[in-house]
Amino acid sequence: MTPSTGTVQQQTNAAKWWHRLDDGRIQCDLCPRNCRLRDGQRGFCFVRLREDDHMVLDTYGRSSGFCLDPIEKKPLAHFHPGTPVLSFGTAGCNLGCKYCQNWEISTSRQFDTLAAEAGPDVIAEAAENWGARSVAFTYNDPVIFAEYAIDVARACRARRIEPVAVTAGYISDDARAEFFAPMAAANVDLKGFTDDFYRRVTGGRLATVLDTLTYLVHETEVWTEITTLVIPGHNDSDEELARMCAWITRELGPDVPLHFSAFHPDNRMLDVAPTPPSTLRRARQIGTDAGLHFVYTGNVHDRDADTTWCPGCGAALIVRDWYQIIDYRLTSDGCCPDCGLSIPGRFDREPGDFGRHRIPINI
Ligand code: SF4
Repeated sequence: MTPSTGTVQQQTNAAKWWHRLDDGRIQCDLCPRNCRLRDGQRGFCFVRLREDDHMVLDTYGRSSGFCLDPIEKKPLAHFHPGTPVLSFGTAGCNLGCKYCQNWEISTSRQFDTLAAEAGPDVIAEAAENWGARSVAFTYNDPVIFAEYAIDVARACRARRIEPVAVTAGYISDDARAEFFAPMAAANVDLKGFTDDFYRRVTGGRLATVLDTLTYLVHETEVWTEITTLVIPGHNDSDEELARMCAWITRELGPDVPLHFSAFHPDNRMLDVAPTPPSTLRRARQIGTDAGLHFVYTGNVHDRDADTTWCPGCGAALIVRDWYQIIDYRLTSDGCCPDCGLSIPGRFDREPGDFGRHRIPINI
């Protein structure tokens, strides 16, 4: 737990998911860290703190910036392909991944780098005005700003814009259902498949993430895809990848898309080489051998591994190259035109044509 800096008066908002302890501390129940705070202390995530006798979230309504991205960049391959998503995040994180690829944001203690007020209606209206099909909570984990994410998601729903959570899924049983209720889609980071890796490299626990995935796939309508950042020497053994893929196939089913993404040295893991393309190809083969129907790679150029192939007849259905759709052959109701198999996902009658670019915007 971190003492409050107390130097800047932030916009605050009453937080949920906490209770008082007999010893006078307050326990946050939002994530499994269960931070226990005395007055003025902040939790591990830094953005939730105790003020007087209550918990507050002091990044409510504040953003680290907005961009229009292709939805493929989240990554979501089966969710309104080709459409733009309005992406934003805040500051802080409830995990401490040594290799964090967004560490400037996730470890930020500088609230003055956050934008001025960006309330839920403002964001939803901006998404509509910019032609975004969806809004993604990304860059840092939306679990820690759950109250804000939920309010933004509801405002988006009111305008028929689909909220997307890009998350590590490290959330308590108490908060999970409420957090995901307004979401239309989620990409969940499955960071490895041993508890030792989770403890050592992320500071979290594997079981909670598996619970989140099981909940999303079996108890909600949230369209769910999984991303694993493959880190040489840490989570890339054949045995670990095979166990992970077998678990997904067995417990979630073969239709949940899995993205193996390339690591590059960052944050506190600068001594590990970038993931070779051959490792991603090996991981993808392991996923396919385990029975998964849709295994992709990310952060590398590999058109075969970016393409959605029909599990029924093997036809190329959505050919992509680096987030851009090159060829789209799904029927208007999301089926293979050759064998008629229905492809799982959320597909529009026609794909979007946003392309691969990224547009920073002010709202
Ligand atoms: S959400 Fe933040 S304050 Fe709450 S338990 Fe997790 S790390 Fe601690």
